[in-house]
Amino acid sequence: MTVNGPVDADEMGVTLIHEHILVDFIGADSISEIQWNNGEVERVALPYLRQLKGLGCQTFIECTPSYLGRDPLLLKALSHSTGLNILTNTGYYGAGDNKFIPRFAFDETADQIADRWSEEWTNGIEGSGVKPGFIKIGVGTENLSEFHKKLVTAAARTHLKTGLTIVSHTGLSTPAFEQLEILHAEGVAPEAFVWTHAQNEKDLNTHVKAARLGAWISLDGINDDNYEDYFKMINNLKENKLLNRVLLSHDAGWYHPGEKDGGNFRGYSALFEKLIPLLRKEKFTENEIHQLLVVNPAEAFTVRVRKIN
Ligand SMILES: [Zn+2]
Repeated sequence: MTVNGPVDADEMGVTLIHEHILVDFIGADSISEIQWNNGEVERVALPYLRQLKGLGCQTFIECTPSYLGRDPLLLKALSHSTGLNILTNTGYYGAGDNKFIPRFAFDETADQIADRWSEEWTNGIEGSGVKPGFIKIGVGTENLSEFHKKLVTAAARTHLKTGLTIVSHTGLSTPAFEQLEILHAEGVAPEAFVWTHAQNEKDLNTHVKAARLGAWISLDGINDDNYEDYFKMINNLKENKLLNRVLLSHDAGWYHPGEKDGGNFRGYSALFEKLIPLLRKEKFTENEIHQLLVVNPAEAFTVRVRKIN
């Protein structure tokens, strides 16, 4: 489900599964679209998106959550001017000590929160008519707090109503496996869960363990300096015959409201210019690269309910 409506999963093509156009870290109490001018953001972001299109990318999954600068109309305009498929999301981001959580969410039940997210799927986001293409949540780095358990439960219930994939800012393995346990208790299969920022976990056996359960391992912080580390993580999963569970991206961008010209904008090219050439040099086949960039994203982001059998 793109910002312009549904496309067939096999039309997604080369896909970056975790990037940003704009992020505002001001916090849920203060955030307002008055802080940025869409024309100005478009002017800054367009050259990077055009470069990306030139590198062969066709689908761009924008992971900025609500209360952090999610802006469906901005994404729609950029999709229009670049021809890229762009996806946005529903959900709340609990990482960062809940600074990005709207106050009412602390008092509401998991079902009430799930209803709010499902409503965006049914009727579109904030009157824009744009539907979310996935659920984005975020949790802390240690054991899940009660509030974060509630967010994960809400995500599971939203998944069962909508079929949207759950992308969770997670990092380390402890919260990753605790989330998979909650999903299990709710009847949601691990195939519906993207372990986001899995590169932060240094015990690579945990990648293998989660991938064997069926979860997606999102290695999503690729840049010009660290791509050799990514090769090692990808190769570890390949050696365990789990290349079909790997998702790759840069977590790059983005326009910073309040900073001159949007501040430092990181481009989206290292995967294409550094990592893929290294994979080829290390004897990854074209089929394997196609799996990583095309097949896996299409499989992960197809809207369908994934229940435990
Ligand atoms: Zn991100």
